Amino acid sequence: MMDIEEFRRQAHRMVDWMADYMGGIESYPVRAQVKPGEIAAKLPDGPPAQSESMDLIFEDFQRDVMPGMTHWQHPSFFAYFTANSSPPSVLAEMLTAALGAQCMLWQTSPAATEMETKVLDWLRQMTGLPDGFHGVIQDSASGAILCAILTAREQATGWQGNKAGLKNVPRLTAYTSGETHSATEKGIKIAGMGADNLRKLPVDENFAVIPEELERMIVEDKAADAVPAIVIASIGATGVGAVDPLRRIGEICKKHGVFLHVDAAWAGSAWILPETRWMMDGMEYADSVVFNPHKWMFTNFDCSAHYVRDPDALIHTLTILPEFLKSREQGQVIDYRDWSVPLGRRFRALKLWFVIRSYGVEGLQEMIRAHIGYAEELEGRIDAAEDFELVAPRVLALTTFRYHPKGVDDEAELDRLNEALIMRLNDGGKLYLTQTRVRGKYAIRFNIGQTWTERRHVEAGWREIVETASGL
Ligand code: PLP
Repeated sequence: MMDIEEFRRQAHRMVDWMADYMGGIESYPVRAQVKPGEIAAKLPDGPPAQSESMDLIFEDFQRDVMPGMTHWQHPSFFAYFTANSSPPSVLAEMLTAALGAQCMLWQTSPAATEMETKVLDWLRQMTGLPDGFHGVIQDSASGAILCAILTAREQATGWQGNKAGLKNVPRLTAYTSGETHSATEKGIKIAGMGADNLRKLPVDENFAVIPEELERMIVEDKAADAVPAIVIASIGATGVGAVDPLRRIGEICKKHGVFLHVDAAWAGSAWILPETRWMMDGMEYADSVVFNPHKWMFTNFDCSAHYVRDPDALIHTLTILPEFLKSREQGQVIDYRDWSVPLGRRFRALKLWFVIRSYGVEGLQEMIRAHIGYAEELEGRIDAAEDFELVAPRVLALTTFRYHPKGVDDEAELDRLNEALIMRLNDGGKLYLTQTRVRGKYAIRFNIGQTWTERRHVEAGWREIVETASGL
């Protein structure tokens, strides 16, 4: 058993390890270079009967586990969207773990509840979200989208879905574009609305929803006795960062009484920059919006900021009050247990509080602005390169392109070349990129958003891409 003094010794040692890890992260390959099953083969098949020393456990961690880690905090991590972290966030996370508080009710941790409300309002002010949005921290954007869908379902059925089930209510329909994250379809399935009732909206040349098509479908569905329940709009969708026209979508939702959820999981953090706020035009029509500080605001996973216009509707949808959860302060305070699917909640606001205070709004703005600036430079290089082409307009710090050597015009061959290029780059470990399909074509996404990324990392990444492509 570990006593307090041994904990102190080990903790100091591990903090030293963490600092060395952060400081020396560039020496690791970005993507783990192991084969499936390689790490499992090193781990015992059963648990130890007797206590093992922390020295031994830590040694095994370093030797057996670390080679199987992909380094999301590496400055040359350009894959997916980032899940960035930062020293202040890690410090707060250590305190959260030490406190080990379960923050489901105000009473079970008043400071956690009150800080969550306060910090999410700071974030609302920082991002320019309208007054009247109330925030809650969810585990993920998927969780927030599910909450939005459930709320919309209940509003559209006069709260009968929860009570009597969906058998005797009209068919509910939902609307989103093919660019929207798959979390939407998952939410629709979990909410029992049926994936067949999720209408996929066509997009324009910039991959944005065509509002007239949305209205046409809503009218068509109403005529067929369906009840249009929810529209999920994207600001910064995953593939190429598509931005839907919120104002027009919002006007249509208002006219037809349809719930509007905005998924800005990645892009929302950039709203701390006034120059990105054009994307939010029409946000006053949204019933809810989510973005993830755990993607692009230096706050380690998990921390998803979910804002709702009408908390009562969300609470009405999710509330369950068994005797053991009643408290004296009920009704006078916020009990966040009613705002999300899980009952239990970690003290996640602390890391956001540490991060915002430690960097200051201007410090955060500077970092995100730098990422966007590097992406703009990269876009210029791709545009100027003879053998590469942009396949979608750059959005914030996401650039999508492909290798297109002169003389090769067969689409299947281009797909094969680009796939081979990504594989070879990722196997090399110097950078990490992921792919998407743009109008059927295989394309490479280069997203910049890692805490430690500097211009030199982006430049080195681009050089590596060009050199590797020329050797294919
Ligand atoms: N929405 C968008 C636009 C995303 O890019 C992602 C993940 O990358 C999600 C939703 C899902 O996020 P989460 O992992 O927080 O559920």
